[in-house]
Amino acid sequence: MTKRRIVVVGGGAAGFFAAITCAENAPGAEVLLLERTPNFLAKVKISGGGRCNVTHACFNAREFTTRYPRGERALISPFQQFQASDTVAWFAARGVELKTEADGRMFPTTDDSSTIIDCLVSAALQAGVKLHAHCGVEAITRPVAGGFELTLSTGKTLTADRVLLATGGCRTAALGQLAVALGHTLEPPVPSLFTFQIAVPWLRALAGVSVEEVELAAPTAKLRERGPLLVTHWGLSGPAVLRLSAWGARDLHACDYQFPLLVNWLPAWNEETLAAELQRRRLAHPAKLVTNAPIAPLSARLWEQLVAAAGLAPDLRWTALGRAGQHQLLRKLLRTEFPVTGKSLNKDEFVTCGGVRLNELNFKTMASKVCHGLYFAGEVLDVDGITGGFNFQAAWTTGWLAGRAMATGS
Ligand SMILES: Cc1cc2nc3c(=O)[nH]c(=O)nc-3n(C[C@H](O)[C@H](O)[C@H](O)COP(=O)(O)OP(=O)(O)OC[C@H]3O[C@@H](n4cnc5c(N)ncnc54)[C@H](O)[C@@H]3O)c2cc1C
Repeated sequence: MTKRRIVVVGGGAAGFFAAITCAENAPGAEVLLLERTPNFLAKVKISGGGRCNVTHACFNAREFTTRYPRGERALISPFQQFQASDTVAWFAARGVELKTEADGRMFPTTDDSSTIIDCLVSAALQAGVKLHAHCGVEAITRPVAGGFELTLSTGKTLTADRVLLATGGCRTAALGQLAVALGHTLEPPVPSLFTFQIAVPWLRALAGVSVEEVELAAPTAKLRERGPLLVTHWGLSGPAVLRLSAWGARDLHACDYQFPLLVNWLPAWNEETLAAELQRRRLAHPAKLVTNAPIAPLSARLWEQLVAAAGLAPDLRWTALGRAGQHQLLRKLLRTEFPVTGKSLNKDEFVTCGGVRLNELNFKTMASKVCHGLYFAGEVLDVDGITGGFNFQAAWTTGWLAGRAMATGS
């Protein structure tokens, strides 16, 4: 009897998880993993600044799904079967311990993404997965006799009983062509997780300054986000910006990344409490310079620029801060408006939104509803999460489900 052949296309996080799970659950099958580049798991290598943010310490499947601007509803059932705690256990069972940082992100205790790569490669080899690098899949057809025929970049062809597409983000429509040729539809690719370009000189003068928590609002896209902010040489970055960009990926694309951004530098205060604080300072330190008295947690450098941007003179003392000046300062602190004129360069975009349309899949098995024997996992789908380990978790979960289903033939 000939062995069933299962081919996983794409040697990234999703492809590895699927191939390992499949081979471990179907010892009688031949499982091949094909990667077109020389290196497996290249994105894992560079992820999380070289540390690999494997998942997020949120162990409630439903709550976890709320971190996905696209895919939230579809992922409920998958996460009920394999969630962040299962990822932690999976790696622990193979000798890799994860640790949790204060913001919930989970990394290997070694702080080195090579630990994850070594673990995945050795688990794949141990399970009997045949790994082929330099082996791109250029076309997939369905012979009348059944199954699949794959045309490889090596010039060879290969037949398969089941095929998993784990080819990563469809940054360009061409990257989704294997799925389209097999009858699937692509939601158009649009960047997600990017930073904002703002050409305001006083902001750029603050490059390198970070603020623990701000509130951002993009009224035209009806978006609001809180979190840490980082001033860069080209504008604004940091978790609050990346999250806003993920939730607004389609709307911000539609306005060509030109929109007003409001920054509340002191979200713990409101107009009333802040006005009372400014008044208190006026009475307590009348002779002190306004520019020398930052309100925590704003740094001295940022405060000085905000005071200047509010139109207050550098030698203004609290006693001379009139009603109009106080109003201008309040406005600047709670509602600085910046014109965003673009997004960061492509190389900084971590994730693509768009990909294979979700209603064409069965999310219990990750099987295609339009092409029998075809499965999908990872970023090739129209699923993307905010930063913090959510994108890898989607890859582990969908890979695990697809691997198990391909093994059992469901
Ligand atoms: C700089 C950076 C940092 C990131 N950091 C994090 C992080 O810390 N935490 C997090 O959760 N997410 C992070 N992400 C996102 C995360 O890396 C991706 O969501 C995840 O890698 C998706 O896994 P995947 O297996 O679906 O796709 P990929 O990792 O993109 O793998 C797809 C593979 O398929 C191969 N391939 C494509 N087409 C073919 C073909 N026709 N034939 C054969 N092979 C093919 C590609 O070469 C690639 O190796 C980061 C992304 C980037 C770019």
